[in-house]
Amino acid sequence: MVRELTHFVAGSPAPGISGDFGDVYDPNTGDVQARVPLASAAETEAAVADAAGAQREWGEWNPQRRARVMLRFLQLIEEERESLARLLSSEHGKTVPDAHGDIQRGLEVVEFAAGIPHLLKGEFTDNAGTGIDVHSLRRPLGVVAGITPFNFPAMIPLWKAAPALACGNAFVLKPSERAPSVPLRLAELFVEAGLPPGVLNVVNGGKEAVGALVEDPRVQALGFVGSTPVAAEIYAAAGARGKRAQCFGGAKNHMIVMPDADLDNAVDALIGAAYGSAGERCMAVSVAVPVGEETADALVTRLKERIAALRIGPSDDPDADFGPLVGPDALRRVREYVDLGVREGAELVVDGRDFTLPGHERGFFAGASLFDRVTPDMRIHREEIFGPVLSVVRARDYEEALRLPSEHVYGNGVAIFTRDGDTARDFSRRVETGMIGVNVPIPVPVAYHTFGGWKASVFGDLNQHGPDAIRFYTRTKTVTSRWPSGVKEDASFTIPTMR
Ligand code: NAD
Repeated sequence: MVRELTHFVAGSPAPGISGDFGDVYDPNTGDVQARVPLASAAETEAAVADAAGAQREWGEWNPQRRARVMLRFLQLIEEERESLARLLSSEHGKTVPDAHGDIQRGLEVVEFAAGIPHLLKGEFTDNAGTGIDVHSLRRPLGVVAGITPFNFPAMIPLWKAAPALACGNAFVLKPSERAPSVPLRLAELFVEAGLPPGVLNVVNGGKEAVGALVEDPRVQALGFVGSTPVAAEIYAAAGARGKRAQCFGGAKNHMIVMPDADLDNAVDALIGAAYGSAGERCMAVSVAVPVGEETADALVTRLKERIAALRIGPSDDPDADFGPLVGPDALRRVREYVDLGVREGAELVVDGRDFTLPGHERGFFAGASLFDRVTPDMRIHREEIFGPVLSVVRARDYEEALRLPSEHVYGNGVAIFTRDGDTARDFSRRVETGMIGVNVPIPVPVAYHTFGGWKASVFGDLNQHGPDAIRFYTRTKTVTSRWPSGVKEDASFTIPTMR
């Protein structure tokens, strides 16, 4: 008997009633470990209605009181970090230490959101005109929804829910149906931390549930993270309905290795950034760009050695560098992309296609693959593979290296490894990418800055977390006021000006 998961509505687990279920795998064994209910439109609407009811009171709580829920949540999580990390790892396939990182990067945004009394303060202008003051308020939107991907089951739901809730909204989360258990537990913990029931509801499901969130007029804003085609579709649908949306999509992140880089340092950084979490990170480095033939030859030689020493193992193996992919479709896609690269004429230096882990033959394990002499026009360079496959595109000089990420359709993250400050500065200013690492391979900004790519990696104008999240999850009201002390002048029939 496999476990049957639920939704989470009105502060309690709610069994699915649609009759539709999705499979949640154990990626280590290939077995189905749980069934997740897929909500119908009616079930989703009921969760939105419940959230709308709960939001009225929550939106009136003072910000400090809301912040205390965040602080209590942070305490509660401390007590079960390890079990949450194991649960996350068991559905996603990332190693337990990496699952701890997933949780930690989410908690850092909860810490940021705990500062909401300060973050929500409006602007004030004294005496904008004679006797006139102007101030602004940041009001919650009402009910907002988040649709999140499988690859960060704790971090991304928390990136969205924490600022949205702290701003006084109710939040309906539609997590990935491939890794739903951690988001469900996070919602329970928020209620234990004092969040009123209904303020955070979790609806599991697929396209039908998402469609209902897009259509429901009570849902004021949609935050999406996932693949680019779905991001584009949701952004367009939200816009057509007059809703706010910020939709984050896929990526193809380059790492430039300059001839003056510390190569040991660069190889260390690259091996972790390319193959960590089996490459299932939107900030994974999937293209290495060594500058000059000498750098390229040295880099490929060292990468080959390091790949041979990689330990691929079950996600709960403390010595594993990375674990299995999330599901059978992901494994098939990765193998097909490696086949494609060979057909396109790239040089397959390390072939991970036939990797099997003894004792786990049915698990979704892919070996590490490395391509050299990939050219920019190849599909393995243009498209996101989202697996443990690194492509080396050799660049003749710095300008050619700079063009590769700049001209790429995606623009999420990029890194440059160099010892030269001038090159790093020039690169940071000119590259057409949203997040840049200088000798840092995965430049995910800290919680109080903002996260977001450029180009096809994002649809919308505000980033995630940091000050942008407060802007996204509130709307501004500007009050112009005058308090006349008795009647001192006649009525005016011309428009007021501030001359
Ligand atoms: P996905 O697009 O398949 O799914 C994301 C969410 O959308 C899930 O909740 C899913 O149920 C839902 N969904 C899927 N298809 C849908 C459809 N046709 N209509 C409506 N909803 C649909 O993405 P994924 O495989 O879960 O995640 C991997 C992708 O996410 C990669 O492309 C990765 O780069 C991207 N990602 C981006 C960021 C970022 O911040 N830019 C962060 C993490 C992951």
